[in-house]
Amino acid sequence: MPKLAQKIGSLLFCPDCGTLLDLPQGDDTIVNCEQCGHEEPASSYENIEITTRSHPDAFPSALRQKGKTQTKIHEGGEALLKVTEKCPECGHMEAYSKEMQLRSADEGSTILYTCVECKHGWRVNN
Ligand SMILES: [Zn+2]
Ligand SMILES: [Zn+2]
Repeated sequence: MPKLAQKIGSLLFCPDCGTLLDLPQGDDTIVNCEQCGHEEPASSYENIEITTRSHPDAFPSALRQKGKTQTKIHEGGEALLKVTEKCPECGHMEAYSKEMQLRSADEGSTILYTCVECKHGWRVNN
């Protein structure tokens, strides 16, 4: 499933980088993100009321929302979990963890850790 833009009021934001997307022009079926080239189907713009006289505070609140969505940590589109795990490199006790499912269930899973402090990465097999 391709990711779709985030709708805030009558504005659409790129799901990848949070950039405000332009409205489709004329018969365009796709809108490209200027920042990262994300392709947003113009159909996302259906059902959006384009109000020429919106609330004066509509845009500032959209910007605040945008700030919030950008605090997420992106790595392959997945959110990383912060866990208590000792870094073998610097001894720091916090790391981001991410579980990788291997081909078959019998092979168990591998957990990838990334040290919060020094960004050292290591993996643990279950
Ligand atoms: Zn983008
Ligand atoms: Zn470390």
